[in-house]
Amino acid sequence: MKNYIPFAFLLFAVSISLAQSPKTPKALFIILDGIPADVIEKLQPPTLMEISKSGGYTRSFTGGIKDTYNQTPTISAPGYNNLITGTWGNKHNVWDNDINDPNYNYWNIFRIAEKTNPTLVTAVFSTWTDNRTKLIGEGLEEAGHIELDYSFDGLELDTIKYPHDKNADYIRNIDEAVVADAAKVVTEQGPDLSWVYLEYTDDMGHQFGDSDQFRNSILSIDEQLKKIWEAITLREKTFNEDWLIVITTDHGRNVETGKDHGGQSDRERMTWIVTNSHNLNEHFKQTPSVVDILPSICNHLGIKIPEEVRNELDGTPFVGDLEFSDLKATKAGSKITLEWKSYVKDDRKLAVYICASNKIKRGDRDEYIKVGEVPIKSWNHSFSFGSNSEFFKIVIKTPSQAANTWLGTAPK
Ligand SMILES: [Zn+2]
Repeated sequence: MKNYIPFAFLLFAVSISLAQSPKTPKALFIILDGIPADVIEKLQPPTLMEISKSGGYTRSFTGGIKDTYNQTPTISAPGYNNLITGTWGNKHNVWDNDINDPNYNYWNIFRIAEKTNPTLVTAVFSTWTDNRTKLIGEGLEEAGHIELDYSFDGLELDTIKYPHDKNADYIRNIDEAVVADAAKVVTEQGPDLSWVYLEYTDDMGHQFGDSDQFRNSILSIDEQLKKIWEAITLREKTFNEDWLIVITTDHGRNVETGKDHGGQSDRERMTWIVTNSHNLNEHFKQTPSVVDILPSICNHLGIKIPEEVRNELDGTPFVGDLEFSDLKATKAGSKITLEWKSYVKDDRKLAVYICASNKIKRGDRDEYIKVGEVPIKSWNHSFSFGSNSEFFKIVIKTPSQAANTWLGTAPK
C-alpha cells in the first residue's frame, strides 16, 4: 500500500505533463489545378466545405498586384512557384510551364524548412514531376542541394502503366494514385511538411470549359480528398500533433468559356483558399493571395525564416500574429512615403530599411540601411533618402513579421 500512493501520483504527474507538452505542428498544402472561386462557391464540394468548418474559406488572388512591377501570368507553373517561394514572377522568374530559368535565389518553402531544421520530414506527392525536379530543384546545386525525405511522382512519365489518352483519363487515375499515396504516408509517417499537387480539374477545364465535365472532375477530386482529411484527423487523434491543411488553386479561368487562363481578367486572377487553421488572423478575410501561404505555413510550423530570405517575401501571413499589411511606397523628389495597414493599438514599433540594389537576384547580399523605427499604429512614415538611384527596395519589419516593396525599375 505504501508504494501505491507514489505510483498513483507518478501516473497523475505523467498525465499532467502529457497534457501540457506542446503538440508537434505539421503542415500539408494541396493545389487543385485551375478552379475559379465562383465554381467552388456554387458547387460547395463537401470535403472542402467540411474542412473549412474547422478554419475557413476565403476568396484569394494570384497574378501579382495588377499593373505593377510584380504582375505575373495566371499560368500553372508560375502559380505553383508563387506559392512555394512566397514571391511573384519578378523574383522567382518562372513565367510559363517551360520553367527555363527559375531564380533559385528566392528560396522555396522546402529549402527554408530543410535549411532551418534538417530534422523536418518533407514530402511531395505530385501528378507533375517538374514540381519537384524544376520548381523545387531537388538535388540541384543552384537550388541549395536539398533532398526531400519522400516523393511520389513520375507517374505521368510511365506511358505503359498510364497510357496517355485524349480524354486525360490517365491524369485522373494518376491524381487518384497520388492522393492515395499521400493519405497512406500521412497516416503512417506524418511528414512535417507536404505538398500534394493534382491536375485533372485543369485538363477538364481546358477541354470542356464551364461544363458538367469540369464540375464533376471537381466533385470527384473532392471525394478523393476525404482520404487525406481522414488521415489528418486520425493523426491528431492518435498522436500529439497539430495539423494545418491549406487547399488552394493556381489560377482561375476566363469568363467567356472557362477553357483558358493566363491573362489578368478578374476571373483568371480569382482563386480561393480552404484551411482548417484555428489560428486565422484578420488578413484571411481580406482576400489574401497565394504568396501569403508560405509565411502562414512557416508561422504554423514555428520556422524562423532566414533574414535575407524573409526580406524578399511578398506575402503576409494569414495564420498567427498580424501586425501590419499592404505596404505601399511612393516617391517625390528625395522624399519617400510609406503607407501600411496597422492591426496593433499599442506602441510596438517596426523598423524601416532601404537599399538601392537588387544583388540577391544573383545570389549576393543587399546592404539594407536602417532609416528609422516607427510605431506600427502610425499607419505611415515619410523620410528623405538622398540617392541618385532610380530603384529602391524597402523592407519594414518586426521580430514576427516583414513586408517589402519596390520603387522604380529594377536593374537588369
Ligand atoms: Zn494550372
